[in-house]
Amino acid sequence: MIYPIVKYGDPVLEKKAEPVTFFDDELKKLVDDMFESMYAAHGVGLAAPQIGIAKRLAVIDVTFKEDPDAKLVLVNPEIIHTEGRHSQNEGCLSLPDFRENVTRPRKVTIRAQDVNGKFYETTGEELLARAFLHETDHLNGKLYMSHLSALKRDLMKRKIRKLMKAGEW
Ligand SMILES: [Zn+2]
Repeated sequence: MIYPIVKYGDPVLEKKAEPVTFFDDELKKLVDDMFESMYAAHGVGLAAPQIGIAKRLAVIDVTFKEDPDAKLVLVNPEIIHTEGRHSQNEGCLSLPDFRENVTRPRKVTIRAQDVNGKFYETTGEELLARAFLHETDHLNGKLYMSHLSALKRDLMKRKIRKLMKAGEW
């Protein structure tokens, strides 16, 4: 099932998501649906709040279907180490048509559970590191706009309000 993506303005995107506690068939189905929804929206990462579900769960595939081993399920993820700095253009399915340069750590290690509840640790660099941070931010009710300067953030919010008024958001 393909879920519609929730856009900025919906309060679910700005609240802290609840931990996942049941590793059952329902969770497996949700993870499958999240990959399907992410690919349908042409994204490389999707957090559960972005489909209106306030759970600490995200999926990532920075290769966009090219490498099946690149598919990652992050259940209850935690950032345990970060290193360096890296600036890159960043977008978000919940902020369609916007892209901004965001500086984040270049190398990131996370600790998370897989769909069966098994804990694992993994390290990513550059785009993957950025995805770990971006998706974990979502689970804490944060969007990448919170990493922009106040000026840029206000400009983005003004543009969105205009789009909302025009019924184009
Ligand atoms: Zn996002």
